[in-house]
Amino acid sequence: MRVSKPDKVLFPGDGVTKGDLAGQYRGVAEVMLPHLAGRPLTLRRFPDGIGGEGWFQKNASEHFPDWVTTVEVPQRDGGTVRHVVCDNADALVYLAGQAAVELHVWLSTVEDLEHPDLVVVDLDPPDGTGVGELRTVARRVRDLFTEVGLTPYVQASGGRGFHVAAPLTRDASFDEVREFARAAATRLAERDPDRLTTEIRKDKRGDRIFLDVNRNGYAQTFVAPYSVRARAGAPVATPLDWPELGRAEPAGYPVDRLRNRMARKADPWRDLREHAGSAHDAMRRL
Ligand code: ATP
Ligand code: MN
Ligand code: MN
Repeated sequence: MRVSKPDKVLFPGDGVTKGDLAGQYRGVAEVMLPHLAGRPLTLRRFPDGIGGEGWFQKNASEHFPDWVTTVEVPQRDGGTVRHVVCDNADALVYLAGQAAVELHVWLSTVEDLEHPDLVVVDLDPPDGTGVGELRTVARRVRDLFTEVGLTPYVQASGGRGFHVAAPLTRDASFDEVREFARAAATRLAERDPDRLTTEIRKDKRGDRIFLDVNRNGYAQTFVAPYSVRARAGAPVATPLDWPELGRAEPAGYPVDRLRNRMARKADPWRDLREHAGSAHDAMRRL
């Protein structure tokens, strides 16, 4: 798998080139591909590097080769989008060669687009939030998910927050899952109103951490586990195990340290699919 212009610098402050990005994705392919399987992707591409113009791209480009799998996905308002679905390491490396720095995934798969097999709560802190506080909030989400019979997993977004996700049996529609996530977030915010908010409007959040549940919708995405982020330092969205959260930063691991970590540690999310829970039961218990 050859990448054109491998010396092209994509992260100017870090000297990370397109070749490095391709190598990074090659290196994480084994642990990352299970999290991409069957999921329509949105690519975030930066052909001129992260300092240049970038865009979120849903439709696969015409010039993508045949062996990059695509699937035609109906849109809610009619029409279709031809999404990439990344099912092999070469395709992952090819996308890196297309300067797809970030990969974002749906919460459902092509097997059943209408029924999510994940629920995600995205913790969005305001400036100045201490990491300890953010960790505490992630654990509150964990505990509530556990109480209602789900199995929670956490990742550092590679940006400013953490994501708490739980696998689902696909017994509920997107609307129902979002309803559950909203109710769970509302419950947590009611218990801790000075610290947490579910307020969509930014100017009404004050200095509270936003529990963002809007990822849980048809055609919505969250950043894929092990996706590089288009930020200084070339951080990676890093799945964590719960004990590790106590010393983890939202920025996760940068590309150069992630490989080291992987040599020492298996993917904390590797058994996620074995622990799917019922969204309906969760709602009832909540
Ligand atoms: P952070 O921890 O810094 O918040 P994040 O990945 O959670 O990082 P958010 O801004 O909270 O970033 O957005 C959550 C997700 O929503 C993104 O990961 C992405 O999948 C999706 N998203 C955000 N903005 C867009 C956009 N303009 N177009 C498409 N998807 C988007
Ligand atoms: Mn976020
Ligand atoms: Mn968000």
